[in-house]
Amino acid sequence: MTTHAVGIGAVRPNELWAYERAPMIIYWELTNACGLACRHCRATAQPEPAAGELSTAEAIAVLDDIVTFSAEGEPLPHLVMTGGDPLKRPDLAELVAAANDRGIGVSLAPAVTPLLTREAIFWMKEIGIQAISLSLDASNAEYHDGIRMVPGTFEATLTALDHAAEAGLPVQVNTLVTATTAADLPAVFDVLSQHTLMQWSLFFLISIGRGSELTELDPGEAEKWLLWASRLNASAPFRVKTTEAPHFRRLVTTPRLRAGASTAEIEAGPMARGFGIRDGNGIVFISNLGDVTPSGFLPVTVGNVKDTSLVELYRNSAVMRSLRNPDSFVGRCGVCEFRNWCGGSRARAYAWTGNPLESDPLCPYQPKADPQS
Ligand code: SF4
Repeated sequence: MTTHAVGIGAVRPNELWAYERAPMIIYWELTNACGLACRHCRATAQPEPAAGELSTAEAIAVLDDIVTFSAEGEPLPHLVMTGGDPLKRPDLAELVAAANDRGIGVSLAPAVTPLLTREAIFWMKEIGIQAISLSLDASNAEYHDGIRMVPGTFEATLTALDHAAEAGLPVQVNTLVTATTAADLPAVFDVLSQHTLMQWSLFFLISIGRGSELTELDPGEAEKWLLWASRLNASAPFRVKTTEAPHFRRLVTTPRLRAGASTAEIEAGPMARGFGIRDGNGIVFISNLGDVTPSGFLPVTVGNVKDTSLVELYRNSAVMRSLRNPDSFVGRCGVCEFRNWCGGSRARAYAWTGNPLESDPLCPYQPKADPQS
């Protein structure tokens, strides 16, 4: 029997219970229709909607179901409407209004296409969207448009960023990080520093969908860039975070632990806000066809919202339950003292090994309790 070290944050019953009860964020791919054909697209988007996408009535039934995640004033999950391009859904305003009427906050992840006009951005604000995300994958048009496969997308993204600022709509900018793009990150930061945004998220590539044609960083390089990003946070005019690289939490907390801060002190601070959130734990994904997976990057379907409650699938499916239990993880992540705060990308573990409970291959850390070290 493997002996698991008592991990940092192992005694956080309230927070662990919260993610057992409900995700913090539901990513909902309203359609896979999109005018772009990005080289790393998780959704393998196409120009027209796929047959079998959820109807308006089916989508509203899902919103009714989401409300039941909460009882007696517990917070409801936040909805991120994504795609494809959610602007391709003719019923978008109706769905946002229906979500807001039920007390569910909505953010939008539109594609940068001719549909994303200044008027469309002001309209988003008007219909009750709280924030949007935009993708900027390079510091210049040549690189960015090469990834997005449509000339002019780089300039259009910066214009959309400025229109959102003008409309008072907060923006998260997402930047893809791969073996070939990482060196450009400081220049991307310089570009973004000249604009207004709320948050910059570095998305560490997972080789699925069209992304399998691109190359992930090796663990040593990933560590270097995560360290760079963690130092940037002290001076950047916006918050810097990561997607699918939760060991960022190890890097930002290690200096504080070394300086003598206790785990309780760290968990009580703002740094702890995202602790533990990962695929299936605090996050869940609904595809355009209604399939439910632990995240958009972990394509293990646990059921479909057309015939089963999302609440039931999130809370009780065996896959989701195991993803919420870091002690069920295999290898280094399973014995790591950071597993409750981090836990590794379950999506990358699955992409590389076929087992979502395996270790995250992007992280080079040797846990203190690892019998291999
Ligand atoms: S070994 Fe796993 S749990 Fe530990 S820091 Fe790395 S990714 Fe996170």
